[in-house]
Amino acid sequence: MTVSVTFCGAAGGVTGSCYLLQTDHGNILVDCGMFQGSKTVRELNYGPFPFEAKDVAAVLLTHAHIDHSGLLPKLVKAGFDKSIFATDPTCDLLTYMLPDSGYIQESEVERLNRRNARRGRPEVEPIYTRKDAEHTLTRLKTVDYHEWQEVLPGVGARFWDAGHLLGSASIEVEIASNKVDGKPTRLLFSGDLGTGEAVFNDVPEAPSGLDYLFVETTYGDRNRPEISDDERRAMLGKEVRDALKAGGNLIVPSFAVARTQELLVDFAYLFNRGELPEANVFVDSPLAQRATEVFAKHLDRSDANALSHPKFHMVPDVEASKQLANVTSGAIIISASGMCDAGRIRYHLKNNLWRPNSTVLLVGFQAAGSFGSVLQRGAKRVRIHGEEIEVRARIRTLDVYSGHADQEMLLRWTKDRLPVSRRIFLTHGEQGARAAFEQALIAQGIPANQISLPMLDETVALQKGGVKAIVPTPRISGEELSRDDWHNLYAGTVTALSEKLRSLKTDTERRDILEKVLRDIGSV
Ligand SMILES: [Zn+2]
Repeated sequence: MTVSVTFCGAAGGVTGSCYLLQTDHGNILVDCGMFQGSKTVRELNYGPFPFEAKDVAAVLLTHAHIDHSGLLPKLVKAGFDKSIFATDPTCDLLTYMLPDSGYIQESEVERLNRRNARRGRPEVEPIYTRKDAEHTLTRLKTVDYHEWQEVLPGVGARFWDAGHLLGSASIEVEIASNKVDGKPTRLLFSGDLGTGEAVFNDVPEAPSGLDYLFVETTYGDRNRPEISDDERRAMLGKEVRDALKAGGNLIVPSFAVARTQELLVDFAYLFNRGELPEANVFVDSPLAQRATEVFAKHLDRSDANALSHPKFHMVPDVEASKQLANVTSGAIIISASGMCDAGRIRYHLKNNLWRPNSTVLLVGFQAAGSFGSVLQRGAKRVRIHGEEIEVRARIRTLDVYSGHADQEMLLRWTKDRLPVSRRIFLTHGEQGARAAFEQALIAQGIPANQISLPMLDETVALQKGGVKAIVPTPRISGEELSRDDWHNLYAGTVTALSEKLRSLKTDTERRDILEKVLRDIGSV
């Protein structure tokens, strides 16, 4: 039998990473990530997997980020009972991240069900619970970088430092039964690739001479200027000084894991050097607090010490988080989620977006359709928890903390993997980003017929002469994966209408508009 690969996520989008490898020796998943972004995309998390969970014989996990690991508890709940291979720091991070994610699923569904009950709609079930997540942790099997692991009889895997996050890996897989020129087939999954410049990470490493290469392309269409630690800190310092000068709070939506700790280390540095007035920094995310402990355990002493600066306050509970609503100026509040779609950050945005002296500083990638992307585009009014809020705060973006390699770095990494005898698959990028990266590879002399841009749910048979694509039946279209969905449009329409009504002079004009809308949709 030939080996086949199905792209069950992060194909034409950046979230839901999941490859299904079908081999003679059994089925293997590489990552099992959660979909994030627009509601339409997130609904994929509730539907069935495009494969049988109980037929999966092993999982290889590149790193702990939820868009790579977040559906593991769903997999276990659906009957998977084998091993999940991951590095030691990844396992440590998952110990907190998966139960936290289970808790988020439970509380979001609880709120949704309260709303559904009032609207007369049926109840929904959480994707998984905290308990499912805790049960999943018992499946973890720790691996070391550089050492071959027997994943199944006949399938070996080796983890390489991807320089993207504590414990992150690119994973090399060797399949004995499938031969290329008489030798076992060699595949390499990049996972997410780091920049080699980030606060805590090393330069990505991996082997060369492969048969099939799977490369992430998050920033496949852009290059960021290289900046030093001092330059990055100076830019952060300027944003913070400006925010404090404006007189309100500084709200920083941040991924709980890695980004928060990078920011803390930079804040400590700026405070200690007197380059910033020592403002109170509140870390309001239980997960960020646990993750900070994991980082302190795995980092060098100086970085680990910086994480416990006396001006850093870990917000202990929901009550203390609510108390922060009374602070109207001079506080720096770091909270999750990084794309502003869930978690305590929603409350801080609700309390601060309408204040003209507040600042929101976006320091992470904002996927299409996410609430953060709506703010970034300059929305004047938004809806949070069903409430309409006017955006008067300063919205700023600081794009210097990316954990992802840019185009030039991706090119260099890919060229270092050559030769690739059969095919290079471009994944984990929105359509424009991976198309641009494809052109960049072609410009470097890689033949166009050696590069594939697979669609969501596409299956390809890895065989002589390249690959054979098996007609895909995607759960949602490529377009839906990387654009605002109708829920975004609906929220925009409602706020635009209310803005229009308020701008009109007379009630007669208001009535005219409303009657016209109702006529157009056939309601009168
Ligand atoms: Zn990642």
